[in-house]
Amino acid sequence: MTPAAGPPAVAPLAPRSWSPLIIASEYCKGCDLCVAACPKGVLVLDGTAVNRLGYHPVRLTDPAGCTSCAFCARVCPDAVFIVLAAPKGALRR
Ligand code: SF4
Ligand code: SF4
Repeated sequence: MTPAAGPPAVAPLAPRSWSPLIIASEYCKGCDLCVAACPKGVLVLDGTAVNRLGYHPVRLTDPAGCTSCAFCARVCPDAVFIVLAAPKGALRR
């Protein structure tokens, strides 16, 4: 009789970087409203990229500096942002 097999070994998940914002940058029109509204100064228009609409799209420069306040999402006329709450225990500055 063979011993009962235990639960299958599960490999630990590799740590992944987490971002509080999902940015649909292809829909950004580069109006700069969110950049001006962000109290943490962590949004910029990316001068190194051009989206399919022909604009420099917004980019989050520092995920750890974002507080998920959602001011950017409120002012954006094109619903480019989805703002996520920080995971429990996440460090915020
Ligand atoms: S959620 Fe708030 S802190 Fe984060 S990028 Fe938007 S405006 Fe800035
Ligand atoms: S407010 Fe919206 S459309 Fe304007 S720059 Fe920011 S993300 Fe782009």
